[in-house]
Amino acid sequence: MRAWPNRSASQPAARAGRDVAAGQLRPTRALPLVVLDPGHGGRDPGAIGTEGTEEKRIVLSTALDLKQRLEAARTCRVLLTRTRDVFVPLAERVEIARRREADLFVSLHADSAPGARGASVYTLSETASDAMSDALARRENRADLAGGLRLPSVSPEVQRILISLMRQETRAGSARLARLAVRELGEDVPLLPNTHREAGFVVLKAPEIPSALVELGFLSDPRDEAALRRPDHRARLAGALARAIGGWLATAG
Ligand SMILES: [Zn+2]
Repeated sequence: MRAWPNRSASQPAARAGRDVAAGQLRPTRALPLVVLDPGHGGRDPGAIGTEGTEEKRIVLSTALDLKQRLEAARTCRVLLTRTRDVFVPLAERVEIARRREADLFVSLHADSAPGARGASVYTLSETASDAMSDALARRENRADLAGGLRLPSVSPEVQRILISLMRQETRAGSARLARLAVRELGEDVPLLPNTHREAGFVVLKAPEIPSALVELGFLSDPRDEAALRRPDHRARLAGALARAIGGWLATAG
């Protein structure tokens, strides 16, 4: 995992505040930054359930709730890739996190997949762990097309290089978050079997930031759709993810 406190030595001054309240000039370390990424938005609604529930609304509502919970715990700063119903290209979501030197990136979705039900967590892999995960990643990676933009033309070779640049500690950090998320979500909501899966999602490709994509459920499943429409169910999801991220931060570095 990445030891975020160790980065302070090379951090620009903007990241380090000063302990003015205590009357000291000793720079204080900024709290780690968690970037939450509510999928889709604007002209890209994401998945749409049979009741007409739009994925973009479910994930934004859950992300805003999760942000409040994390900020209340005062163990991290939180930035959302979108706070409104706007379209943000996939590459820009990753760029936001990289530019701000995020310590953790969590993308939220509630997609559509035949026969799938329950929450699940995805981390990056060159090869998908199963056909469903591969299909999900392909579908997600087309979001930019839905928004009227093309994915940046990155050759497969460059993609391979990018992935190989991903440090071992980043992989370990991503896997650790996934384990925590699966454990905490399992306390409160139904899970998809083999809950931690791997696939080549574009938004997980920042080589230096531990990243995971959480499918809160599947809008293609009527029971999941009914649950995701309920604020109390979304609150349970946000609560579980807040505990998982809190646990991750507590043991980072
Ligand atoms: Zn999605």
